[in-house]
Amino acid sequence: TQRVVIIGAGIVGTNLADELVSRGWSDITVVEQGPLYMPGGSTSHAPGLVFQTTPSKTMTSLARYTVEKLQSLEKDGQNCFNQTGGLEVATTPERLQDLKRKHGYASSWGIEAYLVSAERCLELYPHLNRDVVLGGLHIPSDGLALAARATQLLIERTRAAGVKYLEMTPVTGIERSNGRVTGVKFPGGVVAADIVVSCAGFWGVELGAMVGLSIPLLPLAHQYAKTTAVPGLVGRELNKQINGKNAELPILRHQDQDLYYREHGDQYGIGYYGHRPMPVKASSLGLTSKEVDEKNMPSRLEFTEEDFAPAWKETQRLLPMLRETQIADGFNGVFSFTPDGGPIFGQAPNLDGFWVAEAVWVTHSAGVARAVAETLTTGHSQIDMSECELSRFEEVQLSEEYIEETSSQNFVEIYDILHPSQPRLSPRQLRTSPFYAREVELGAYFLELGGWERPFWYESNRDLLKYLPPQWKPVERDPWSNKFYSPIAAVEAWKTRNAVAMFDMTSFHRFEVSGPGALDLLQRLSTADINTKPGTITYALFLNDHGGTRGDFFVSRLEDSLFQIGANSATDLAYLSREARHQSARSPGKYVQVREITGSTCCIGLWGPRARDVISETTTEDFSNKALPYFGVKRCIISGIPVTAFRKSYVGELGWELQTSAEYGQRLWDIIFQAGKIHGLVPAGRAAFNALRLEKGYRTYGTDMTTEHTPFEAGIAGAIRASKWEDYVGKASLDRLSPSSKRTPTRRLRCLTVDDGRSMILGKEPVFHKNKAVGYVTSAAFAFTVGKPVAYAWLPGALGEGTKVEIEYFGKRIRATVAADPLYDPDNKRMMA
Ligand code: FAD
Repeated sequence: TQRVVIIGAGIVGTNLADELVSRGWSDITVVEQGPLYMPGGSTSHAPGLVFQTTPSKTMTSLARYTVEKLQSLEKDGQNCFNQTGGLEVATTPERLQDLKRKHGYASSWGIEAYLVSAERCLELYPHLNRDVVLGGLHIPSDGLALAARATQLLIERTRAAGVKYLEMTPVTGIERSNGRVTGVKFPGGVVAADIVVSCAGFWGVELGAMVGLSIPLLPLAHQYAKTTAVPGLVGRELNKQINGKNAELPILRHQDQDLYYREHGDQYGIGYYGHRPMPVKASSLGLTSKEVDEKNMPSRLEFTEEDFAPAWKETQRLLPMLRETQIADGFNGVFSFTPDGGPIFGQAPNLDGFWVAEAVWVTHSAGVARAVAETLTTGHSQIDMSECELSRFEEVQLSEEYIEETSSQNFVEIYDILHPSQPRLSPRQLRTSPFYAREVELGAYFLELGGWERPFWYESNRDLLKYLPPQWKPVERDPWSNKFYSPIAAVEAWKTRNAVAMFDMTSFHRFEVSGPGALDLLQRLSTADINTKPGTITYALFLNDHGGTRGDFFVSRLEDSLFQIGANSATDLAYLSREARHQSARSPGKYVQVREITGSTCCIGLWGPRARDVISETTTEDFSNKALPYFGVKRCIISGIPVTAFRKSYVGELGWELQTSAEYGQRLWDIIFQAGKIHGLVPAGRAAFNALRLEKGYRTYGTDMTTEHTPFEAGIAGAIRASKWEDYVGKASLDRLSPSSKRTPTRRLRCLTVDDGRSMILGKEPVFHKNKAVGYVTSAAFAFTVGKPVAYAWLPGALGEGTKVEIEYFGKRIRATVAADPLYDPDNKRMMA
């Protein structure tokens, strides 16, 4: 059994101890700098509102488990969750509309939810001002976590099971040897450990610094205040039997004004996100003193009344009965925000055995703790955690400046209505491809991902709209789906299918894997047979031990011991690098090196039926089918520039990814652009690209499939080489699957087309069959080639082609049909041309 040290006895650390104990692990020590009865972190004063539903399936699932667990955590006939229900009210038409979208998320993720009228809001919550409220969303299973009590019960329960707790014991260092943790240090001692999990909440940055790890979270103060007793509530009979109930109305959110509410007996608690971001350095707060009490702890700062003034005014408007009260007690409470709002979960890329579970709300605490425990004990979590992965951040996103600016922005926007494509306005232009200047000249409209500026369409193509054949004319979109979108995408798609287009592919992750052990590493980690002739591209999957899909990638064998990987994320890089490090340490003769080359190279996707005409204007090299067949790769010279040409296409057309090193980028762009002119070439952006890849049936990892899905369910089993004799990660699990679960899985990623040919969806909407929510949309786009919106959705395997379903979009039902997959060129004739 492994020796585990957990740092921090907040709601996350104590849940983790409990989850490990329940999985049979026994050698566990929890080290806490504060006193155990009230450690003084964020948990010690958390009001504990649990609104489960978010746009994220992962986060909603983590919340749902937390509710279940707190309900089961019981002592003296009282559990740790007060299921009051949750009510989000709308006071603007925009919010009212957005609650419909949120209702859709609830249906997608399996949470019971009701859109309710203003009258019903008042029935549920009689103190609301009828003149202000337009309607609401009611979620009966939401409620209040009794976080401090839960923490104490978990300490009691795990202690009884043998977990050791060291209180008043600040961790001051992490012991390591040979790239592994070996223990934690505190004044006066060391606890030896094989695994250290930092659950230090907003102190995470300090703990990370002890091992040279940047933890992308920002501690921010957030205002919370309690009113004096509300005259109308004094003396009322609350059912003290249940949870020492001091609240019975639903927890309440008034997001239009950045406010939330709960009852505390006859007082009210008011939380406010509308004030200026107030960043805090955890190290400046000092260590917890022995005299921690409810009003005196490091995570509780002085109330700044002036910041709260707008909240107080608005509260009196929304809840008129509070006009008779005053603020009795307010504080600026500290907790963590992150650049993308997600928690931070995972193993340090630079140190084996050092794990992090931080920036976690009470709402997700037990869920995240379970995910850590499952990953430690079985190698994988049942809930996909990729969007919480510590390693999801790009290097540039780990700078202090970036973390501070984006996390503060996250605080400001926490309750805003955000479009899924909405870009941040700052920081921008962090990463630009060598084609950037040209793209700007062509009027590119950029959206940002991972710091990269990525063109979505080019205004230079607008004039071509008038030449679009009638069947390619874009349909009119509803205002929401029309945001961050342009009909120019139709032109770019039309040109790609009928002439030729160039796409900037630079921001896609590219890694080089090299060395005498390169082949062994890739064979061991992937489903395909990589032992091919140099000059060959292979599509392959990474699986987890359980046979869940943890990534898909293209691997190009450039030389015997040199491979290039086209992958999805920084997490793939962390995974490959760690595995390479382990292999090199295990067998020095099979050492292997992994190097990211994304930023030092650049890439143009040149695709379309006339791509060969264009390329032959630029080079005498042979680009025929024979010389460079589909899924072939070769190094060549194009107008004097060294280029590696990869014969593959995400959009499903003839062509190549032309990659060169950064210094030649602009020249390569100019050469291709010039050569293409007479062949009708256009630059094309992501908007067209996404539509083209969807109609060609190409899935995007993370969006369409995750670790929760087997390749058979996701429709990517073609990347598994059945005859591969080498063992690889996940193989045993795949072998254990029954033939029928491979052939006809119980759920499947399905292609849908929208019957009316025009109603758009954007992704994450629930899908109904016979009026029952049976699945959810992953990706969607207007498929120009077939002239209809297309969506991919997870559906029960039994719903075959031709099945009629309905997709709910802002409360409207859109009829759709399960279609054959893919819609476009299923035999790959175009790409093989
Ligand atoms: P913490 O509770 O902070 O625990 C971390 C522990 O680590 C601390 O006890 C600390 O003393 C210990 N520690 C740190 N460094 C060291 C070290 N070097 N050595 C030893 N021990 C160390 N969330 C919700 O879900 N719903 C809400 O309604 C809600 N409202 C909130 C309102 C306010 C005012 C605030 C401030 C937060 C709110 N939150 C809410 C957020 C929530 O409280 C936190 O996200 C959550 O409690 C974090 O739990 P944790 O266990 O990660 O961190």
